[in-house]
Amino acid sequence: MPNGYWGKILRVDLTNKKISEENISEEYCRKYLGGVGFAADILLKEVGSEVSALDPENRLIFGVGPFQASAVPGSGKFVVVARSPLTNAICYSVAGGNMGPMLKKSGFDSLVVQGKSDKPVYLWITDGKAEIKDASSLWGKNTEETTDLIRDELNEPKATVVDIGPSGEKEIAISCLTVDKASFAGRGGLGAVMGSKNLKAIAVKGTQKPEVADSQKVRDLAKELNKRIRETAPEGFLKGGTTSETTPTEELGDLPIKYWKGDSGGVWVEQAEKLSYPYYSDELNVDLAECAKIACRNCPIHCHRYIDSKEPARFAVTGVGPQYEALGMLGSCNLVEDIHAVAKANEICNLYGLDCISAGAFVAFATECYEKGLLTKEDTFGLELKWGDGDQLVEVVRQIAEGEKLGKLFAKGIVKAAEQIGGDAPKIAVHVKGMDLPAHDPRAFFSLAVSYATSSRGACHTHGLCFKAACGLLLPEMGITEIPDRFNMEGKEVIAAKFHDLSAIQDAATQCNFMMFGGFGITDMLNTINAVTGWDMSMEEFLKIGERLSTLKRAVNVKWGFSKKDDVLPEAIFIPAKEGCRAGKIPTPLEPAIDRYYELRGWDNDGKPTPEAMEKLGLS
Ligand code: SF4
Repeated sequence: MPNGYWGKILRVDLTNKKISEENISEEYCRKYLGGVGFAADILLKEVGSEVSALDPENRLIFGVGPFQASAVPGSGKFVVVARSPLTNAICYSVAGGNMGPMLKKSGFDSLVVQGKSDKPVYLWITDGKAEIKDASSLWGKNTEETTDLIRDELNEPKATVVDIGPSGEKEIAISCLTVDKASFAGRGGLGAVMGSKNLKAIAVKGTQKPEVADSQKVRDLAKELNKRIRETAPEGFLKGGTTSETTPTEELGDLPIKYWKGDSGGVWVEQAEKLSYPYYSDELNVDLAECAKIACRNCPIHCHRYIDSKEPARFAVTGVGPQYEALGMLGSCNLVEDIHAVAKANEICNLYGLDCISAGAFVAFATECYEKGLLTKEDTFGLELKWGDGDQLVEVVRQIAEGEKLGKLFAKGIVKAAEQIGGDAPKIAVHVKGMDLPAHDPRAFFSLAVSYATSSRGACHTHGLCFKAACGLLLPEMGITEIPDRFNMEGKEVIAAKFHDLSAIQDAATQCNFMMFGGFGITDMLNTINAVTGWDMSMEEFLKIGERLSTLKRAVNVKWGFSKKDDVLPEAIFIPAKEGCRAGKIPTPLEPAIDRYYELRGWDNDGKPTPEAMEKLGLS
């Protein structure tokens, strides 16, 4: 068994109620690293194009990597992977809480769930054992109630609980997974995959530790990196988490305004300040001690927000507060500047188990369709949709979460909703491969245009932190040593590809990518992996894993019918702003940059990995 791994994948077949273990070799671990690497390999081998996302034969895979055998910063993460009901493509969603370390301590490197139970169940995994337990009484409960009830039933108050809410049970295509009430595997509707299997939750508690090659070195690295992050991460980020980003993001023209039709870049800055730290912290009574309690394990940053807001009563929230993506998509994207309304809408998403990014996008899309006469009062069940209305935001988000009234229209995602509305609605919808854009605008950072178009899971900010390069986040180990011009397409295929590779490594290792903001670089990642495993992996071999996993994920999508035709951006992104710092700027010419991206990877003109590229990466 390799150091840092158990060499074991836990398999659960819910149809046959069969639990088994599969052994994996050290060679396999070194080739795919863990997390999304193991998962993409499993999907490629086991899920054919005929298996839809909600088919029992889809696999729902939870993975960790060598980082979870350590306490280095950001190692509180795990990744969940499956075919997505929103995009039909591969989807990987990273979350935290305590699940990553607990899954590792339970004696497994991955958990693969297949089949469908004949009644609601949950899994209880502890120290090398797994049990399928009845969850009939939990069906219909929200995510917080479910977590509490499972911990009570097991008499394990410290068990980590990953669960779905009523949205996932109804298989709503933007349902998420919630971890320990405070962290979310948000994107791509993987909560619906879990619901389709009648799997309400997974509870895990482990007390075992895999062998580590050089435990003193791992401890020293953890100590040094924690100190470095505390000393070098931006002060605003340490105090306000991602909520400190709303105002600067607006100033860069990156914040979505009015479903991508409004200008930003110094145009909406006063309103953005009301959705940003420090106003956010004062208004919602952020409690930093409570933020630390709900942070992911092994984190020096504590970005999650714990709020205690009592007024106005209809928007009162005590618990987890919105982060930047929610502030952008529920807030500015809908022209809602009332932080209390955004916090309430976000709470509904959390309790029902709904992706707040897509939920915000749906409300904004519906409002634009209503404004253009594509939706009528009859379609909206009497609502007169208008921009900037906090009460309307809360009501429509609730309907989406419940899959009722106007929410029914969105139950299968933005593409199906736009088709059903008809007329110009499909042209208005802002998505890539069916995934609603997150709160970062490719008109502000042209590398994002290439990144969103070619990303295997659709429009994805965590798979495309490439925009941070233009803000000074360089990757010298990957050859990105200079701050790029954010407003031209030259070389943007390289930046997009390198950041895709990096995120593939982070999702395999498995680590929170925010640690990079505190100087946790690629060399530190490699040093950690070598200290944990005892390998003498070179930087060249390490970076090749990123290339391998990027092409592997693409190969999964190609097997399921994806090609160049799917690598397109929505029309809204080619409408230039009239005012602000990105006035007149649009990310063109995009297609040649996408072609160069394919060429760089050794994919053919249709975006399919060639046999030579597969062989070079050991994937044939
Ligand atoms: S920075 Fe935030 S997301 Fe990352 S590990 Fe810490 S609490 Fe979790």
